[in-house]
Order: sequence, then C-alpha cells, then structure tokens
Amino acid sequence: MSDKKIIIAIDGKSSCGKSTIAKQLAKELSYVYVDSGAMYRAITLYFLRNNIDINDATQIKEALDEIELDFRLNEQSSQVEMFLNDENVEYLIREMIVAEKVSEVAALGAVRDFAVNQQQKMGQRKGVIMDGRDIGTVVFPHAELKLFLTADNAVRVERRFKELYQKNPNITIEEVAHNIEMRDYIDANREISPLRKAKDAIEINNTHLTHEEQLEKVLELANGLLK
Ligand code: C5P
Repeated sequence: MSDKKIIIAIDGKSSCGKSTIAKQLAKELSYVYVDSGAMYRAITLYFLRNNIDINDATQIKEALDEIELDFRLNEQSSQVEMFLNDENVEYLIREMIVAEKVSEVAALGAVRDFAVNQQQKMGQRKGVIMDGRDIGTVVFPHAELKLFLTADNAVRVERRFKELYQKNPNITIEEVAHNIEMRDYIDANREISPLRKAKDAIEINNTHLTHEEQLEKVLELANGLLK
C-alpha cells in the first residue's frame, strides 16, 4: 500500500449509508473514521440536559465552553465511540429525543464554528474519512476525494427504522420518516453551511447497490488517487 495519505469527505442526507461506507473504507485503508454528526448529537444532548435556550447567544457560548468532545476506540468492538465530558454517550446520542433537536442545534453558527474547528484539526495529518453534511464544502474543501451519497427516500427510511427498532421496538416507521424528512429539510435550508453537493464531489446513488458493490466502486476511486 502507498504511504500517501488523503482526506475522504462523504456527504449526503440522513440515513443514506454514509457511515457504513466510511467505516468499511477506514478499515480497508487503515484510516481514521470521524462521524461528524455524532459531535452535533453530543452537543445537542448537552443542550437538552442543561435546558439551553437556543435563542440565547450567551447561554450557547457558555454551554460550548463547558463541552469537551472526544472520540475513543472501544477495543472490544473496534468501533470508535463518542464521549461527552468523559462520559460515553455513543448510545444516548442515537435516541429519538436527540434526533428531534439536533438539526436546530446544528444550524447555530456558534455550534458549527465549535465543531468545524475540531474537525479541521482532526484532518491535519490526513488519513481521515469524515462523513456529514458540509465536509466536502466547508470542513475540507480541498479533500482529495469527495463523495455525495444518495438513496431513495423509502430505502433511507427503512434502513433507519431497522436500525432504531432493534433498540426501541415501540418506534414506528411514521416517526422515523417524519424525523428524516424534517432533518433533511432543516439541513438543506439552513443559512450556514447547508447540505450541498460540492462541485467536485462524485455522486453515488446506492439504492440498488450492495455494501460490497459500493465498497468496490469507492475503493477503486480511492486507490486511483493513492497510486
Ligand atoms: O449524520 P447524522 O445523521 O448523525 O447527523 C445528525 C445531524 O447533525 C444532521 O441531521 C445535521 O443536522 C447535523 N450535521 C451537520 N453537519 C454535519 C454532520 C451532521 O449539520 N457535518
């Protein structure tokens, strides 16, 4: 394998398979995977727990000053987990209560500055795969490989429903569909760093692709740049 290291940016709407391909790629290339959405989710969890008023700039600033985010490797599962002020919140941040608020919190300028700054530091040494909404446009506009994933709405809803149902059998498909629709709308229409396909991003619609087919396609692109 070549010693050259690149940055791979993966963007797209909610539940279009970004983290699946990002994790597979990280394993194949021995790169670091960063789930930028987990950072916005952890900030949202902190805001919810501390009743932060998102219309109050002072409260937001003071809250962000108290937040320390950290990705730590779980040796047993080999998965990276999100820590908020030394607490493992990897499971809590996937709950619906966080999903319902995260897009409003992620639309705040101070929150984005806080997260983007840390994300850019994580990319300094390259060898990073980051997924999110603004990675190819704002966080790493010079990333060597940019992917923009898409999938049919029904497929995205079904995938997220299956994932959430394992943890919470009371969840309904309507709830999941509504949450995805709402987040997509806010993420694509916010003023700061809205979800956009970067001009130089390669679009992959994975509605009819297996995980293996998608990985093969993307590895070919990455390996072409690593030669
Ligand atoms: O990727 P995930 O669905 O976990 O992201 C949760 C939310 O975090 C998104 O719906 C979006 O509002 C926000 N987000 C963002 N920018 C990113 C990653 C996530 O605004 N780079």
